[in-house]
Amino acid sequence: MSQRPQALPESADEIARAVSAGQALAADVLERSLQRIAALDGRVKAFVEVFHDAARHSAQALDAARAGGAELGPLAGVPVAIKDNFVMRDQRTSCGSAILEGFVSPYTASAVERLVSAGAIIVGRTNMDEFAMGSSTEHSCHGPTHNPFDLQRIPGGSSGGSAAAVAARMVPLALGSDTGGSVRQPAALCGVSGLKPTYGRISRFGLVAFASSLDTVSPFACDATDLALCLRVLAGVDTRDATSINAPVPDYLAADAPGIEGLRIGVPTEYFADGLDPEVEARTREALAILEIQGATLVELAMPHTRFAIPTYYLIATAEASSNLARYDGIRYGRRAEHPADDLNEMYTATRHEGFGAEVQRRILLGSFCLRQGYVEEWYQKAQKVRTLIRRDFDAAFSQVDLIASATSPGAAFSLGEKLDDPLAMYMNDILTTPANLAGVPGLSIPCGFTDEDLPVGLQLMGQALDEATLLRTAAVFQEATDYHRREPVL
Ligand code: GLN
Repeated sequence: MSQRPQALPESADEIARAVSAGQALAADVLERSLQRIAALDGRVKAFVEVFHDAARHSAQALDAARAGGAELGPLAGVPVAIKDNFVMRDQRTSCGSAILEGFVSPYTASAVERLVSAGAIIVGRTNMDEFAMGSSTEHSCHGPTHNPFDLQRIPGGSSGGSAAAVAARMVPLALGSDTGGSVRQPAALCGVSGLKPTYGRISRFGLVAFASSLDTVSPFACDATDLALCLRVLAGVDTRDATSINAPVPDYLAADAPGIEGLRIGVPTEYFADGLDPEVEARTREALAILEIQGATLVELAMPHTRFAIPTYYLIATAEASSNLARYDGIRYGRRAEHPADDLNEMYTATRHEGFGAEVQRRILLGSFCLRQGYVEEWYQKAQKVRTLIRRDFDAAFSQVDLIASATSPGAAFSLGEKLDDPLAMYMNDILTTPANLAGVPGLSIPCGFTDEDLPVGLQLMGQALDEATLLRTAAVFQEATDYHRREPVL
């Protein structure tokens, strides 16, 4: 038995302050993170690769720069894990897929560049569902990641590796991507905090595309303070992503920000419908009561198109995916299958058949089907119209309330393998998270209690476009009043 290593005692905020002030060395902070990974990741399997040498090199360079009088950035010395669908120069990116075998990127994603410029130390790549398609991190060529709160269960997905790495206190911050819930849902299931910002708030340049109109770069942390710190570093316009928004980036948790007195929180009936686990509902309602005690007013409201979110999402996301994934043809990236020398089509077919897993193939087939000539109006265009109706539900809600609250996931973490043969059951996990992606609005998940089996439950808060500040402020108020976010898994 290995000795249980010391948990990283500080948050990202505390690490950055201590390293900047010369009270701690980035190299020491990193060693503790690496020790924790070495001791625990054999069981959790959050990482697909740890950058021991490169990270040590960066930490030493940062310490040397400080010793030389340089002023360090807001994430000075903070170890950060990166979901394996962000490219990093001279590093591999696998997206959890065999088709990218051997692929090394010639450039670095904007989000990662920003973290590094702010002084963060990139410690490695984390596991994910193949091409971010899934809700359990079981669809990965590297095998599944395990939930640190119960190793027999899934961590959620698709950013399960990043969520588990933060939950197990291997790193205080991690990057994920959220297209339909892939950061909020694993955050909920692993007992950490995760923020999906407004679509366009963070540049997607260098994030491998799944569904381009829905994809968002989204961070994980242990609390709202660290999420706010990280968002401030990541947010902003980028000439390399035409959909990035050119709007000022506020101090998301300014010290003089008001509390939540008088804040109106919408509670949509449709989000508390059949299929919501009773324990999850109970923890969510208790959390709402806590917010009420803190001064918020709860407003029951209707968002009638919510029930169309899953079919709409699974049409639009698969359509976009089928187009985005057309580039993996055995020529430009990664792996190429054995094939008859003179037949290009055979080569494409064999490469894609061998390289893509079953779930990705299912999505490409679905997406190609709904984009087929003669079917486009019936499926894809209709989905776009329903997407508008879902967005209007949010517009109507936000004419009455400041934010919307619900559970993040309809149930707590399920057992590994439990839903693997039932795609529809797997897709239903996304029922509460996909609407925010379809509407483009920000949403976050914070820990709000535990089930009788000691599994974490997450509270989802959704806000108006570009109003991450209200979400983070509310989350911070909730975390001041509770300590669910402090509970660590016993590993
Ligand atoms: N679970 C959803 C899906 O499988 C969401 C994925 C994501 O947000 N990347 O598509």
